[in-house]
Amino acid sequence: MSTYVPTPVDDWLANYSGPRKSRSPKRADGQSYGAAMTERKRNMLASGIHPATSLALRAGLAESCGTCTHCIVSSNGNRHWFKCNLVPITNGSGTDIRLKWPACIKWEKGDGKEERFRAH
Ligand code: SF4
Repeated sequence: MSTYVPTPVDDWLANYSGPRKSRSPKRADGQSYGAAMTERKRNMLASGIHPATSLALRAGLAESCGTCTHCIVSSNGNRHWFKCNLVPITNGSGTDIRLKWPACIKWEKGDGKEERFRAH
């Protein structure tokens, strides 16, 4: 007669409490990090500072990042994100820009290829 010997899997199953509910930790104020970042960027724009370059918005110019030659696309093949090539680019959402954001003082007219991004 053999005696059952618990395996590491048995120990793991005994302590398993089901799938994790959320991978997004909340801040102390209950706001998600993504929501807090969006609010911070919105506040910067409202105070005349571009969130990507931290430079002043270009006054009197009805242009946006979407028509700027410095706006580039970062892609993993399935999804894409827009970045400004004047600042260090990371894989995180902190360096994402929105095409509709008002232009900063470094705006330069693009070659028109940026227009195709608007469809996305
Ligand atoms: S306007 Fe151009 S230079 Fe300024 S943040 Fe947007 S993409 Fe970058």
